[in-house]
Amino acid sequence: MIIVMRHGASEENIQKVIDLIKLKGREAHISKGESHTIIGAVGEKVIDPREFELIDGVKEVIKISSSYKLASRIFKEDDTIIEVNNEKFGGEYSGMIAGPCTIENEEQIFECARIMSESGVKIIRGGAFKPRTSPYSFQGLGEEGLKLIRKAADKYNLAVTSEVMEISQIPLFLKYVDILQVGARNMQNFNLLRELSKIKKPVILKRGLSATINEWLMAAEYILSGGNREVILCERGIRTFEVATRNTLDLCAIPVVKKLSHLPIIVDPSHGTGLRDKVVPMSLASLAAGCDGLIIEVHNKPECALCDGAQSLYPEQFRELYKKLKQLAPVVGKKI
Ligand code: PEP
Ligand code: MN
Repeated sequence: MIIVMRHGASEENIQKVIDLIKLKGREAHISKGESHTIIGAVGEKVIDPREFELIDGVKEVIKISSSYKLASRIFKEDDTIIEVNNEKFGGEYSGMIAGPCTIENEEQIFECARIMSESGVKIIRGGAFKPRTSPYSFQGLGEEGLKLIRKAADKYNLAVTSEVMEISQIPLFLKYVDILQVGARNMQNFNLLRELSKIKKPVILKRGLSATINEWLMAAEYILSGGNREVILCERGIRTFEVATRNTLDLCAIPVVKKLSHLPIIVDPSHGTGLRDKVVPMSLASLAAGCDGLIIEVHNKPECALCDGAQSLYPEQFRELYKKLKQLAPVVGKKI
């Protein structure tokens, strides 16, 4: 249930609503918008909306039938904007994250960081713990990889995002990384999501390989409900009957999510297509559809990459793409 306060409702009345929510055994989540304060009553305990309607200053009590509440646009009308290292995601902003699939060695990650920085990118990506389909494929450098990407990022003034695969790794990530990424395979690892709800760093939540948008928003709700409001959704392609591309990039998820939720949604056209020649058109299409950012794989030498070389852009290709995205942005009402 969501309680919308009248414009200018007093702090005392807002507090009365919060106290009553708690008395009824639910949790109160407050969202202060420009015109209204909205209070979410989250939990399973049955409550009677009339008791809230009787409190002065209450404009409206809305029963929510969707199972996510904090992720819902009803709870928070204005877009959530997440800022990391002066790069913004959400609202009118479309942010950029780019870098290699995985951290391979010192030379490679420093070279990638240099290329990113020279291209104007402010956030570098790179996996240290890789969820590979085969146990025989390169699994990542682990903590050593995180140390390397941190060092390289610091040298070039970049922020870092990397995928956290399990709860026990969280302290390590808090030490080295600015944005924690939950991979598609872990979207419904609810124990991991619950732990990430307690941290004070943004989380990129990738869409599961066969997750519906409702399931994805429910997964975001796990992170939000524990107190972490900085969730960036990431569409990275879903599994369909089509095999011409690695996954089917669901661009329609962008307008659908933006209607249902206030959370920023970014797109990963690299995993979404699996082929570098498809990354450029799909990045442009994502921006045209209103995405709040992109996460793109770029490698200094894609043909030598230990992981996902075929979908990694050449540095020059990336520079060209970034230029085109900047040209397109104002046409579709976005700022890069
Ligand atoms: C990645 O970004 O490196 C990755 C493994 O992506 P996904 O979880 O979307 O497959
Ligand atoms: Mn990859």
